[in-house]
Amino acid sequence: MTHDTGLIFLGPPGAGKGTQAKLLAEAIDVPHIAIGDILREAIADQTPIGKEFQQYVDRGELVPDRLILDLINDRIQQPDAKKGWILDGFPRNVKQALFLEELLAKLDRSYTIYVVNLEVPEQVLMERLLERGRKDDTPETLSRRLQVHKEATEPVIDFYRDRNKLYSIDGDRSQEEVTKSIEQIVTPAQSGI
Ligand code: ADP
Repeated sequence: MTHDTGLIFLGPPGAGKGTQAKLLAEAIDVPHIAIGDILREAIADQTPIGKEFQQYVDRGELVPDRLILDLINDRIQQPDAKKGWILDGFPRNVKQALFLEELLAKLDRSYTIYVVNLEVPEQVLMERLLERGRKDDTPETLSRRLQVHKEATEPVIDFYRDRNKLYSIDGDRSQEEVTKSIEQIVTPAQSGI
């Protein structure tokens, strides 16, 4: 059995998950699996499933679990994810967290899981997101996404805290400072490889 590193990035929209996850993925050479990017790609291609995703993403709602879980199952078992992965945007509710826990238990591997929770005040999030201006970053969609985060995703923070896997980080600092804090969490495991 091998020991792999699984990183999960939590935090509200605009917390900097994508930026930090991408940097870390390059540093430790594991794939950055960004669910939002996967969904947006399917939407841009207007595939049948992409059209279905779009109805939810455009409203700031979560895409139903039945459409997301298969996607994760497939992606995590791709050859490039054999040594580990960084998940960005998953799990977003407790059901998804339970699904991931069961999936990892089924695979014949031993994972060290780190859950990085980026904390940023709501006021700062709004400013960042309106500046970013992605298609689903309108004021209406944004406030719905922040609300969905509170209702559905914050319980996931407790889920991982209960399992002693949670590392909370102050995300309201420069990108470099946040990166340094995250590296300090994962470096001991990395240097042991
Ligand atoms: P952000 O974290 O900045 O809101 P993402 O790119 O991670 O942006 O997600 C964009 C949208 O994609 C979400 O608002 C939601 O509609 C959908 N989505 C992303 N991840 C999930 C997920 N795990 N389950 C359901 N829907 C998701």
